[in-house]
Amino acid sequence: MQPPSAPSYSSGLVWFRRDLRTEDQAALYHALTQCQQVHCAFVFDTDILDVLPRADRRVEFIRETLVELDAALRALSGHDHGGLIAVHHAAAADAVPDLAAALDVQAVFTNHDDEPQAIERDGTVRTRLAAQGRALHTFKDHTVFERSEVMTQAGHPYSVFTPYKNAWLKKVDAFYLSSYPAERHAARLAPRPAGHRRPVPTLAALGFEPAGLAQLKIPTGSQGAHQLLADFVERIDKYEDTRNFPAVKGPSYLSVHLRFGTISPRLLARTAHERARQGSPGAATWLSELIWRDFYFQILYHHPHVVNDSFKPAYDAIAWETGPEADALFAAWCEGRTGYPLVDAAMAQINQTGYMHNRLRMVVASFLVKDLGLDWRRGEAYFALQLNDFDLSANNGGWQWASSSGCDAQPYFRIFNPVSQSEKFDPDGKFIRRYLPQLAGLPNAALHAPWKAKPLELQSAGVQLGGNYPLPIVDHDTARQQTLERYAVVKASA
Ligand code: FAD
Repeated sequence: MQPPSAPSYSSGLVWFRRDLRTEDQAALYHALTQCQQVHCAFVFDTDILDVLPRADRRVEFIRETLVELDAALRALSGHDHGGLIAVHHAAAADAVPDLAAALDVQAVFTNHDDEPQAIERDGTVRTRLAAQGRALHTFKDHTVFERSEVMTQAGHPYSVFTPYKNAWLKKVDAFYLSSYPAERHAARLAPRPAGHRRPVPTLAALGFEPAGLAQLKIPTGSQGAHQLLADFVERIDKYEDTRNFPAVKGPSYLSVHLRFGTISPRLLARTAHERARQGSPGAATWLSELIWRDFYFQILYHHPHVVNDSFKPAYDAIAWETGPEADALFAAWCEGRTGYPLVDAAMAQINQTGYMHNRLRMVVASFLVKDLGLDWRRGEAYFALQLNDFDLSANNGGWQWASSSGCDAQPYFRIFNPVSQSEKFDPDGKFIRRYLPQLAGLPNAALHAPWKAKPLELQSAGVQLGGNYPLPIVDHDTARQQTLERYAVVKASA
């Protein structure tokens, strides 16, 4: 945190994006310390929303969260007319400079978003604001370390996780983990001018339908994030032992909150760091996961080519399966009809809830690429559409890890066996039975590979292979061999 300076602007605008909270929010803090009067706005960006399906859990999550943020800003400001200016049906690149002009602020404050499209958008906003004589100030908020803050001794970005993590841990201290006390300066929050006092638009006004967030009981907003954190802190010491088992409540489920910034990453890293220093291996492992998050953000920043291409160019020489048969395999994977219960249960989880356990993300990604021989970009795009926590950097990093094309990836010859993964990480079949009730009656020994079950076992469990549950769409051992052949083109560079 940097010390506050005396206000240098009479008025400013905070543009909220993926930082939807008032607590420990860098841009809000800097605006409040540098401006006498501060307006706050969020733009439902048509450039982003127009390409989404009309029922989208993320849009519903954002909308619910903004209602909370609006109320929090109003309460902090102490004005009846305080709160958030929510702009909709506009492209942010136009709406932000227009709003800045309408409010006649001298500067706009916002937090970094290092996705290539966002960098381009922010460049446009900066140019347009500059043409009006207004400034754009941007800050790190989304990670503990970003961009070029953690570099090798030779001054290059890291592309291997462990040395990055070691350097991250060496650099981190109380300064980097301390909070921005925005609320101390809340009296500078301005009332919304007449003409800007509309409530946060309804989903219908945004052109969306409910996507079932309430039924899924996904807690929204900062309150929801703190509720999940309080629950997780009770379990954090056991994280190391529980995190790989999808039927167990092991992880934090905070990813969607990190994605939309309803909780501060500094607070989470501080919590884990303090606990790890007190000797909790669970907290140390969880901190590592947060460091993976920072790692992939800096990979995307320094290597934006990963959005379309393999991190390691040699991997773009791989010939993936294409054509109608490949399309049918892809559809079976998306719809959870592969005949491999753990894969199908995992796909049911993402399709029904928008969440997928980390172990399962690795299993289904490996299955798509190394059992079905399909381009990792197809799976990546499907996840991008379905995941509540979809984040370009982590999603791309995860998929390139699974396909072995990534920066610090799984070696190409390491191929997950979907049956042994199932036996190891869902030994009692609790997760599989939750998502595939048609298999629930099978004994544990038959559940992981139903095609090997005895006819009598299938019959008494009411399972008809090829009927109410599919036969495997590929044979793993054959697929494994084909994958090794497919990856021969990268052997020299691996
Ligand atoms: P926890 O285990 O509680 O971890 C805490 C936080 O650490 C997570 O919320 C997340 O922010 C971060 N984190 C954990 N693992 C990773 C990782 N491997 N890489 C980067 N950050 C991590 N995570 C996303 O946030 N968005 C994605 O779009 C995404 N796509 C993925 C795709 C694939 C193919 C794979 C293998 C992983 C992907 N991950 C993604 C990483 C990871 O699976 C999720 O972050 C995690 O499952 C979220 O659940 P949680 O919050 O309960 O995690």
